[in-house]
Amino acid sequence: GAKQRGKNTYQMYLRQMSMSLQRRVEMEAQLRHAIENREFTLFYQPRIELSTNHCTGVEALIRWNNPQLGLVMPSDFIPLAEETGAIVPIGEWVLREACRQAAEWRANGLSIHVAVNLSARQFADPHLHESIIEALEDARLPGELLELELTESMVMRHPEQAARWLTSVKKTGVRLSIDDFGTGYSSLAYLNRFPIDLVKIDRSFIRNVPDSHSDTQITSAVIALGHSLGLTVIAEGAETQAQIDFLRREGCDEVQGYFFSRPIPADDVWGFLGRPLQTGTGSAPMPTTKSVR
Ligand code: C2E
Ligand code: MG
Ligand code: MG
Ligand code: MG
Repeated sequence: GAKQRGKNTYQMYLRQMSMSLQRRVEMEAQLRHAIENREFTLFYQPRIELSTNHCTGVEALIRWNNPQLGLVMPSDFIPLAEETGAIVPIGEWVLREACRQAAEWRANGLSIHVAVNLSARQFADPHLHESIIEALEDARLPGELLELELTESMVMRHPEQAARWLTSVKKTGVRLSIDDFGTGYSSLAYLNRFPIDLVKIDRSFIRNVPDSHSDTQITSAVIALGHSLGLTVIAEGAETQAQIDFLRREGCDEVQGYFFSRPIPADDVWGFLGRPLQTGTGSAPMPTTKSVR
């Protein structure tokens, strides 16, 4: 009867919960050893400048290659790492590895920006500034080639403090961007009191362009306002030709999305770009759109 069904459902619920708790505990323990076990790797997603069709930069995106769990995506462990504080050493590893890779590309004639995601916990870590300087120095990477991605909520939490910190970090030459823009509740005009260089329009808007009238209007507005504030505007998650056409028409500066490329291993970046003909020009030529999809 209904009572029995209710009981079964409840037991199933308990089973699922304890399974996820067990998984959580396992993951937590494994996360602690993942750096020394060299289980993390960075993938890189190219960003394309629409006016030139050149790749101007890549975003470093972490993957966890765990012998038991397989390839774990960031959405499945970053929140846990954030909760437990493991994100601080992980984030530091990401910063160092991304700088090392960017310096290696640069030494081989490919000067592209490498963007690194910062987490809220990392942003609150008093040693972050030092870690950034060290990562740049150890890799011998000019700060200009590193980009730090922050979210609205991170800078809006303690705006005065964030503004001071960002202003001092800017002295290393790094570029600062606001990631996932539009998902928080801050205005671009307000965000402009922080020394940011770029704004990335969240994928949830781009996904519905140009079909949804409101998302299309919002996207156009962010591009126009971003430009009037002197920001470089990047659209995240463009997958279709129609989206690219629209973004190009609206003057969006750069696009990062599956249309051009998924995140790829560092070694595949050369293949994506085609061997660069000119070196040290700040960007490498890109093969035709179709061949790189
Ligand atoms: P994000 O920083 O907004 O990165 C973009 C995410 O969107 C990536 O997912 C990328 O693969 C995905 N994406 C890009 N273009 C498309 C598209 O056209 N279609 C679709 N469906 N997806 C697209 P990924 O790699 O799974 O990362 C998810 C999130 O995890 C990132 O979002 C970022 O918030 C976080 N993350 C990734 N790596 C790191 C890291 O090293 N440190 C920290 N703190 N967070 C990270
Ligand atoms: Mg990002
Ligand atoms: Mg994003
Ligand atoms: Mg994000």
